[in-house]
Amino acid sequence: MKAARLHRYGEPLVLEEVPTPRPGPGEILVRVEGAGFCHSDIHVIDGELKILPRMPVILGHENAGIVAGTGAGITGVRDGDAVAVFGGWGCGSCDYCVTGHEQLCETPQWAGLSKHDGGYAEYLLVPHERYLVKLSTLKPAEAAPLTDAALTPYRAIKKALAVLEPDHHALVIGLGGLGQYGLKLLKLLSGCSVIVVDVQDQKLRLARELGAAHTFDGRDAGVSERIRELTGGHGVNASFDFVGSDDTLALAIQATRSLGKVSQIGLAGGAARMKVLENTRFEVQFEATLWGTIKELREVIALAETGQLTPISIERAPLDRINDVYARLKRGEVQGRAVITPAA
Ligand SMILES: [Zn+2]
Ligand SMILES: [Zn+2]
Repeated sequence: MKAARLHRYGEPLVLEEVPTPRPGPGEILVRVEGAGFCHSDIHVIDGELKILPRMPVILGHENAGIVAGTGAGITGVRDGDAVAVFGGWGCGSCDYCVTGHEQLCETPQWAGLSKHDGGYAEYLLVPHERYLVKLSTLKPAEAAPLTDAALTPYRAIKKALAVLEPDHHALVIGLGGLGQYGLKLLKLLSGCSVIVVDVQDQKLRLARELGAAHTFDGRDAGVSERIRELTGGHGVNASFDFVGSDDTLALAIQATRSLGKVSQIGLAGGAARMKVLENTRFEVQFEATLWGTIKELREVIALAETGQLTPISIERAPLDRINDVYARLKRGEVQGRAVITPAA
C-alpha cells in the first residue's frame, strides 16, 4: 500500500510502498478515507515532540474509513462498515485503561504516535474493535476530524462545565481546527458568550461568523485588560488555550476570574506561570487536558450525526500532497481542517 512515513525528525514525510498489514485475531483493517492533519504532527515532524519509539513510522492519529478486513473474534463490525477510529490507544489493563481513560495510559500506544502506524496510508491496522465508532450518515472524511479536532475540545469543555453558565464568558485562544470546534461546542454545551483571540484577520472574521460574541487581535497590546473591562472588571469564567505558548498561557491566566478555570489544550511548548497576587486570582484551577475517551468520542459522533454539532470546513488532499499540507498548515493557511484522503 501507499504510505507517508517519517524517517527522521526535521525531514519531509516519505511517500513509499509498504506491505499492507493483515489483521490478526481481534484486529481490524480499515481503508483510510479520511486522516485529519493535526498541528501536533507538525511538532512531531519538526522534532519538538520527540515521542516516537521507532522510525520510520506512519503518522496520522485522526482517522476514519471503511472496514476492509477483520481478524478472528470480531463481532461488532464487518467489511464495508463506515467507522471513525479512536486513536488514544493504551495497554488495556492499567488503572487508566480499565476506568475508560485509555488516552492517559502510562504506556501509550497511540495510533501514529507510538510504535503503531497511523492513518497517512491506504490502510490502518486497528488493534481492537472497542476503538471503532460506527458511522451512519456521516462520511469518513467528515468524521475523521471529530476524533481529535472535536473530541479534544469536547473533553476540555465538559470538564469545565461546572464553572460555565449561560450568562458567563469563556475565552478561546487560537482558532485552528480545534479552536473552531471549541467555539461551536462551548455555544452548544454551555450557552455562554465566547470571546476569541487569534492573530489572523481571517480567523477573527471566521470567529464572528461562527458566533463569537467578541474577538480580539492577539497582536494588539492590552488584550487581557480589554477582556476584563468587557466582563465587568472580573475576567472570564473559563479560558481554553488552543496554542499553548508562554504568551497565550499568560493571557489565559490573566483573563480568568476567581473560581474560574484555565484549560491548556495546545502543545506549543509554553509554560504556565501562576502566582497569586501577581498574575492570577485566587481559586483559579489549571488543567492541561489530553484528547478524550472512547465514550466521549461516541458522544461527539452522536452530536454530529444528529446535526447538533455542525462540521468545520474541510479541505481534502490526496496522500501525495501531504508535504504541501504540512507546509500550508505550518504557515497558517488552512482555514478549517485539512483531511488527507489516502483511499477515497
Ligand atoms: Zn491531534
Ligand atoms: Zn493502560
